[in-house]
Amino acid sequence: MVVTGAAGFLGSHLCDALLADGDEVVAIDNLSTGKLGNVEHLFGHDGFTFVRHDVSTYVWVPGPVDVVLHFASPASPRDYLELPIPTLKVGSLGTHNTLGLAKDKGARYLLASTSEVYGDPQVHPQPETYWGHVNPVGPRGVYDEAKRFAEAMAMAYHRAHGIEVRIARIFNTFGERMRPGDGRVVSNFLVQALRGEPLTVYGEGEQTRSFCYVADQVAGLLTLLDADHVGPVNVGNPEEHTVAELARIVLEVTGSSSSLVFAPLPVDDPSQRRPDITLARQLLGWEPTVALRDGLTRTARWLAAALDG
Ligand code: UDP
Repeated sequence: MVVTGAAGFLGSHLCDALLADGDEVVAIDNLSTGKLGNVEHLFGHDGFTFVRHDVSTYVWVPGPVDVVLHFASPASPRDYLELPIPTLKVGSLGTHNTLGLAKDKGARYLLASTSEVYGDPQVHPQPETYWGHVNPVGPRGVYDEAKRFAEAMAMAYHRAHGIEVRIARIFNTFGERMRPGDGRVVSNFLVQALRGEPLTVYGEGEQTRSFCYVADQVAGLLTLLDADHVGPVNVGNPEEHTVAELARIVLEVTGSSSSLVFAPLPVDDPSQRRPDITLARQLLGWEPTVALRDGLTRTARWLAAALDG
């Protein structure tokens, strides 16, 4: 199996799960937002090979490959706003190159797509049949349009070359190995709460998100990989919270007495987001099982250790 973005948050958890299943993994990452520390515990493992490489240039892997999982991309808004052109390149050229690898090897292909393909959605919750509401020329367009292009390219490779394509539309996911400074709401709030600093709520905090714990996410992704369905499937937790609610829950689980401060809402910040996971339930028999508070408690423990280390 080939995993791109293998040193990233989701990529590294996928590597763990695949190796635990007895698969061999060629892990590729250019370490632009990924961290070697996420995979260094795997370096002694017989089935694990790490290659530092940017898949936007080209990809070649010797020997047979049965599955390609394309997870390389900056994924937090802070990261993709800082890396707009690499984000567009890895979603477009990187997807083309990795699909080319899958075609050459006759491999199945799993694309990490995103709830951002729905943009600032006008249909709520979002089913896979919704075409979305994206601003192509706004700052988030670099991520949203790259992933929309990636989905189109994956479907074209399926139609033209018969590649077994799986597309996961991944909704907000959190857990161990989030970078403390990645700028996402869960990592920001937990780090701020742990340090006794004010929690930075953007806008009025009335915008909503639905947060999936990483173990649930990885289980959903691997079930999708093995399933027969070609085309996008939402993988996320349908339990929806406002950002202000999340801030209060973070204070509760960390026992922090931090205050809340309000800061401007980022441009094109989606006002609501919640996956309709009917398809995942029917097709995969999958749904999340870890409660938000439990996931946050585990993540807080990990972040506390990461901040100490
Ligand atoms: N957010 C916030 N405070 C922060 C970071 C983010 O209020 O310190 C908000 C952000 O404006 C958005 C939501 O939390 O409405 C989720 O942001 P995140 O960056 O985690 O991911 P997104 O879902 O926007 O891709």
